[in-house]
Amino acid sequence: MTIKNLSVIIPVYNEADGLPDLLDRLGAISDILTGEFSLIIDYIFIDDGSSDDSFALLQEYDFGTRLTRLLRFSRNFGKEAALSAGIDAAQYADAAVLMDADLQHPPEMIADFVRIWLTEDIDSVYAYKPSRLRSEGPVKAALSKIFFWVINRDLRYDIPPGAGDFRLVNRRFMNALRSLPESNRFMKGLYGWVGFRQTGLPLEPPPRLRGESNYSPLRLLLMTLDAITSFTTMPLRLMALSGIIVAAASALYGIYVVIQHFLFPSVPTGIVSVLALIAFFGGVQMMFLGLLGEYVGRSVLEAKKRPIYILSDDISRKEKNVADRG
Ligand code: UDP
Ligand code: MG
Repeated sequence: MTIKNLSVIIPVYNEADGLPDLLDRLGAISDILTGEFSLIIDYIFIDDGSSDDSFALLQEYDFGTRLTRLLRFSRNFGKEAALSAGIDAAQYADAAVLMDADLQHPPEMIADFVRIWLTEDIDSVYAYKPSRLRSEGPVKAALSKIFFWVINRDLRYDIPPGAGDFRLVNRRFMNALRSLPESNRFMKGLYGWVGFRQTGLPLEPPPRLRGESNYSPLRLLLMTLDAITSFTTMPLRLMALSGIIVAAASALYGIYVVIQHFLFPSVPTGIVSVLALIAFFGGVQMMFLGLLGEYVGRSVLEAKKRPIYILSDDISRKEKNVADRG
């Protein structure tokens, strides 16, 4: 049996409170996996510009002989950028696990991913939420339903609803992700876009142990707009389509008014209905213009071709441990 390398990629943003727990549990499951499947496991942490002492904590933690790479961004670039940096760093891994640092992705589940990866012909194994309703309440669940409906309308591939960022990806899946040049990296969409054989395992995510979610409702809304405008142009088509429908309807209405004028000359034409229509279509036009602007803005940002992230530190942890001890 050939020995395989598995990298565990973890973006970290102000997670100092929960890190010790995570590292202990991760260490335990990694030892088990190394024993059971003769895997060589290494860790890649990406500090996404934390303002707490997450990075210091990672630097001081005793990883023993486990190879550990500590990357640090020059500022906060976002989780998607951190995941991309992790995948870039995992150059020699046969597979990588992408997981959150807040223990909402239980490290023990890596064993289930690995088992499928090693025994089945599958390129990516992900965890999905079986019921969004219970964990998120009806409003968020409904919004996410609508989101996945819109985004999946236009596409020849599926972005499975409820699929999260906790997943294992094999070498060719990683290579495919790395080959995507866009700087707006909506990972859930990219996972679907690259294709391959994928399978999901249900996971009811436990609540965050410490700290709170970095994503406010507003940030989620903006990310949703980002995701939609970078993955589908269907809203633009809907705009055009509704323009055609409205134009056709008003033409018919114009004909109707003319006929009415000749048949019943005494009926007055209403000013209120005219005002209402002007206001309504003014609003619709503004909304559509805004949406159009979103697309234009997106292509301006992509046209700049800026790097997805900037590193300020890149420390390989085993070297340092050895140096410390020697
Ligand atoms: N995260 C990050 N950069 C950010 C926000 C979050 O690297 O700007 C990391 C965070 O440390 C965690 C993961 O992304 O490991 C998920 O973040 P969070 O738990 O806040 O999101 P949620 O679980 O609410 O989706
Ligand atoms: Mg979380």
